[in-house]
Amino acid sequence: MRVIIHGARSGRPVSGAPYRRYGGSTSCFSVETGQGLIILDAGTGLASIGEELARRATVPPIAIFFTHFHLDHVMGLPAFQPFYQRGVEVTLRGYAEQAAPWPHTLKTVFGKPLWPVELLEAGAAIRFEDLPRQGSLAVSGATVSWCPLWHPQTSLSYRLEVAGRAIVLATDGEHGQADLDRAFLEFCRGAEVLIHDAQYTPDDYPRHRGWGHTTWEQAARRAAQAGVGRLILTSHDPSRSDDEIDRIVEQAKRIFPNTSAAAEQMVLAD
Ligand SMILES: [Zn+2]
Repeated sequence: MRVIIHGARSGRPVSGAPYRRYGGSTSCFSVETGQGLIILDAGTGLASIGEELARRATVPPIAIFFTHFHLDHVMGLPAFQPFYQRGVEVTLRGYAEQAAPWPHTLKTVFGKPLWPVELLEAGAAIRFEDLPRQGSLAVSGATVSWCPLWHPQTSLSYRLEVAGRAIVLATDGEHGQADLDRAFLEFCRGAEVLIHDAQYTPDDYPRHRGWGHTTWEQAARRAAQAGVGRLILTSHDPSRSDDEIDRIVEQAKRIFPNTSAAAEQMVLAD
């Protein structure tokens, strides 16, 4: 299982000197199993996966799972080169609580007048699959499970297991709903790696209560309680510089020593 981080920014992409080390692309992660490519979220980091696939002789089957459909998690879709290639198969999976079907949301982002090409006419064979609020699927040799988090319109956390190794991704989720908090803690139990929302500092949080994100301190406490092997902080606030993220990691290490911060092109398990 080869896990690569392609985008770790929440809200909007950023660029420039203060963001060079951790990167400015929005949420996107890939897991390659040998049988296929699983992508979690289609933020602007998705473009770099497409560029890498364009250099390969054959493109593996691609499954994209969405944590949810806020713009920062889908805005990379039109820039993904495999969508424009005949013979490529892409399955898109997600859960949406609201009445508006999520495939419609994706076709809006990737379609006229926002984009000159329609998703379903771009070239690749596209399939949409609705996920229930909680469940598990076998995909490309991996077991993919999911668990809902407290976030506006709900987001999903994902757990991927291959050959007894487990990694959990939770990009957007606020603490404070006892039943969801408890279920998520069990969901993380024993994972080798937990990639967890840490958008806010404890000082920021009171101004953003109800916005659906976690502080680094809550993420570190959760990692300790769940007994995971390693914590990687993600969903960096767009205003957070590399140096500020370094300081957050140093503080989080006092609660959970094996903590680092998600950076673009970081390879987690090879
Ligand atoms: Zn969101």
